[in-house]
Amino acid sequence: MSDTAGNGAVLVVGGGISGLTAALEAAEVGKDVFLIDKNPYFGGRVAQLNQYFPKLCPPTCGLEINFKRIKDNRRIRTYSMTTVKSVSGGPGNFQVELETAPRYINSNCTACGACSEACSSEIDDPFNFGMRKIKAAYLPHEMAFPRRYVLDKQACSDESLSAVKGACKYDAVDLDMQPEVFTLNVSAIVWSTGWNPYDPEKLENLKFSSSSAIITNMMMERLAADNGPTAGKILRPGDDKEPESFAFVQCAGSRDENHMEHCSYICCMATFKQISYIRAQYPEAKIYVFYIDLRTPGKYESFRAKFMDDENIIFIKGKVADIVAENDGGVTVVAEDTLTAKKVNQKVDLCVLATGMQPAIGEQGKAYGLTLDGNGFVVSEPEKGMISAGCAKAAVDVYSSGQSSTAAALKAIQIGR
Ligand SMILES: Cc1cc2nc3c(=O)[nH]c(=O)nc-3n(C[C@H](O)[C@H](O)[C@H](O)COP(=O)(O)OP(=O)(O)OC[C@H]3O[C@@H](n4cnc5c(N)ncnc54)[C@H](O)[C@@H]3O)c2cc1C
Repeated sequence: MSDTAGNGAVLVVGGGISGLTAALEAAEVGKDVFLIDKNPYFGGRVAQLNQYFPKLCPPTCGLEINFKRIKDNRRIRTYSMTTVKSVSGGPGNFQVELETAPRYINSNCTACGACSEACSSEIDDPFNFGMRKIKAAYLPHEMAFPRRYVLDKQACSDESLSAVKGACKYDAVDLDMQPEVFTLNVSAIVWSTGWNPYDPEKLENLKFSSSSAIITNMMMERLAADNGPTAGKILRPGDDKEPESFAFVQCAGSRDENHMEHCSYICCMATFKQISYIRAQYPEAKIYVFYIDLRTPGKYESFRAKFMDDENIIFIKGKVADIVAENDGGVTVVAEDTLTAKKVNQKVDLCVLATGMQPAIGEQGKAYGLTLDGNGFVVSEPEKGMISAGCAKAAVDVYSSGQSSTAAALKAIQIGR
């Protein structure tokens, strides 16, 4: 199948907050836009946050308005579960080959949930970082756009598949669905592929898998979220204990030449935000923050100031050397306090690794003709028709992602006019 929208069309790869913004900005000035995402839903990482600063809004407040604008805009065509296979041509005349993975649920789906009820096979919930099991026929999350179920066919028994098929009154389950390859002709490509949490398994001294009391900051977002695995109550995974003490390990993977050299920009602010989640549920909990320096630039200084005087928050300037699992389910965090030159062994009930943002595109970007900087971010090259936006370009917050996506759209619409 080949799909042509004529000269001047823009392909936006990645439908997080950056891609949604770039797509809307380009379409609202009259360009045809194709927006793709590898996930079964749009919204990217912001959809997984509990609240986002500076205003601590739920993600719905930023995303839903964009979804509505996208639904209402006939110039934007969206493709979920879709990735780029190859890129050829050049600015003003790219041919991009794309592949849509089978969802096994077609557009007849009304999201009634009957397939999920009938399904007897389970998977680790990807949206909640495996912190709970869900049925293999599932809606990715409550506010998923498109609002359509997905079937993980490989995870299902034959019995489960026939129950899922039989339960659907709308003929929406298509077990024979195949990957679909198609080509688009576009003038410019906006790369808004965002970031992935740095893999905590690579941080050997932090022993992520040695204890369920060690979680990442993105897992903390899900634990605090009403639509998360614990319905918003922050409980220790594994034994559901209400933690009385917490540790945050800053720069977990960032600013480290053995892992990611860049500062992920957001992690200090994310920790202060997560302290606000803890304070709302556990006013007396002890919180220990192990840091190299605390970076909360510009408008975020006042957000940080709110917590600096809390006598139950102890800031320890020192890089964590080790985390030791204890028999009672907690962990001991080991570090040297560089201000007192004393070794610290701090036992806590729950330890949060503030893992940084790693560019999602990876080495594959080079095969698409992209230039990556030393940290793997996509260099914006409008002269080549390849423009990067948001966290594909640099580790930034939502506000800056919006700005860079608007700038990317402005560049993209000028190519091949
Ligand atoms: C713990 C934590 C908390 C945070 N809290 C806040 C906060 O409170 N406030 C704030 O402003 N910022 C916060 N951030 C930062 C925020 O998450 C980012 O600014 C935001 O996600 C950037 O959006 P994006 O669209 O650029 O990238 P993403 O959200 O990563 O979206 C990228 C999209 O591209 C898709 N994609 C990736 N690769 C491909 C591919 N090859 N093909 C097709 N699609 C692809 C992905 O599936 C995804 O949907 C936080 C970050 C962390 C780590």
